[in-house]
Amino acid sequence: MTGLVIVGHGTRSAAGVDQFAALVERVRRRGDIGDVEGGFIELSHPPLTDAVGALVARGHRALVALPLVLTAAGHGKGDIPAAMGREQQRHPGLTYRYGRPLGPHPLLHDALEQRIDAVLASADRAGTALAGADRAGTWVALIGRGSTDPDANAEVAKVARLLWEGRGYAGVEPGFVSLAQPSVPAVLERLRRLGARRIVVAPYFLFAGVLPDRIVAQSAEFAAAHPDLDVRVAEVIGDCDALADLVRERYAEALAGDIRMNCDTCAYRVLMPGFADKVGRPQRPHDHPDDPVGHHHGHHQHGHGHHGHDHGSVAVVGGGPGPDDLITVRGRALLDAADVVVADRLAPTGLLAGLRPDVLVIDAAKVPRGPSMAQEAINEALVSHARAGRRVVRLKGGDPYVFGRGHEEVQACVAAGVPVTVVPGVSSAIAAPALAGVPVTHRGVAHDVTVVSGHLPPGHPDSLVDWAALARARGTVVLLMAVDTIAKIASVLIEHGRAPETPVLAVQDAGQPGQRSLPARLDEIGAVAARESVGPPAVFVLGPVVALTTTGQRA
Ligand code: SAH
Repeated sequence: MTGLVIVGHGTRSAAGVDQFAALVERVRRRGDIGDVEGGFIELSHPPLTDAVGALVARGHRALVALPLVLTAAGHGKGDIPAAMGREQQRHPGLTYRYGRPLGPHPLLHDALEQRIDAVLASADRAGTALAGADRAGTWVALIGRGSTDPDANAEVAKVARLLWEGRGYAGVEPGFVSLAQPSVPAVLERLRRLGARRIVVAPYFLFAGVLPDRIVAQSAEFAAAHPDLDVRVAEVIGDCDALADLVRERYAEALAGDIRMNCDTCAYRVLMPGFADKVGRPQRPHDHPDDPVGHHHGHHQHGHGHHGHDHGSVAVVGGGPGPDDLITVRGRALLDAADVVVADRLAPTGLLAGLRPDVLVIDAAKVPRGPSMAQEAINEALVSHARAGRRVVRLKGGDPYVFGRGHEEVQACVAAGVPVTVVPGVSSAIAAPALAGVPVTHRGVAHDVTVVSGHLPPGHPDSLVDWAALARARGTVVLLMAVDTIAKIASVLIEHGRAPETPVLAVQDAGQPGQRSLPARLDEIGAVAARESVGPPAVFVLGPVVALTTTGQRA
């Protein structure tokens, strides 16, 4: 597994060095990244060269180097790559992938919120702790390091805004402890003039250091000059699980190797306070409800197609029972726009031939009882390609939620914070009988249809099917994945009360050129299917509707 070197800038603060070391240790202890070291490019111990040297000594030739900085400014853009360049000279053949800066990121915003809550809950100058966090009466001064790089300063402003949105503070104003305006005293004065009575100064810093100490000192000075105000300084973000989570995310992203724009604070990808309804909403630039232009311009791309095209997403698409033209229009459109298609064997694989040549097609073929790509690996592929900014279509046979494990994939995406959408499909459970001339319901004949997995035979300890109840019911039963179990199922149904002469139809390869159907009585279907070598994919439909089978219809 690729080793990780976490790179700090270095600080004169012993507490800051300890916090950095504690974070490196926390990431290492989790054990999900094979080999982890941390080092500084100046001032503090251990130096970067020791950290890289240790990884190289353990056999690593390719690393992820993650700059432990909040914003992309001089350190992240120049100093750390230069230091890594020196290490590459020292260790010929060493390569590394460079991670993104940590912020802005919701995990960091949540951590800041917790630090603010903590200082609100502590006793004030007069010795009274606030009962709960009175956010409506609290102004926040979010203090960044300050930089000559306006983009870095703008990020602090952005974080201030994101921290304000939906969290109920009276307001959040950005300020800077060095190099940029407004300074700490200036932003505090601004808040005082806005009418603030209580201000929490929140340092936007990872760890303790000279600059966070300066924030504390300047805030104390301002507070001393304004005894009528309640001014408190929150802790820095510090070593915590959220930070370790973020390091892990940046590591995975660097390995995926397709780092594009910052999408972390996008309301369509992650749950932002107050915008929960946006998560996972499909972004279709040519069908924007608020944009009248969108409705006239069919496929024309008109300027606000940012999200749908830059952000990774997963669509779990039901492809129908097999023929190319039994997929839904929506499923087809998503397929045409996909960068990556993960396809099952029973999906309409004929459609894959028509994809653009640059589309990556992953074969997740699951031959019954044959070699299979573990579900875990499929989930992992969906998540990692989406995280790399790609539009992923998971193309499945029939409907994704009818014995398709589709919801496991949806759950994996949700858990990973990847936007995911489901496109229902035409299930073989209904379509295979229909294509063979059997209506699964019919007025006056069957008022119920039950779709059953025959994957586990009756009596199997893991079976969840009440076979006796199915035997007592009068309506239609459709069995999927039952080629190997049909004889056993038929006899159990008869044993519990279904008439032995109940008509059954086996439908194999429905919708395909080789489609065939075999009629039999329930007490004969096992023998007929074996004699005629019925093989997957096939469904068995049984019940009075089978007597209505129309033959000679065009499939
Ligand atoms: N999600 C799928 C079912 C997946 S389970 C759907 O909704 O259709 C796989 C089973 O589906 C197969 O064992 C078979 O019973 C059935 N099946 C899928 N495609 C089929 C086809 N073209 N003809 C007959 N049966 C099919």
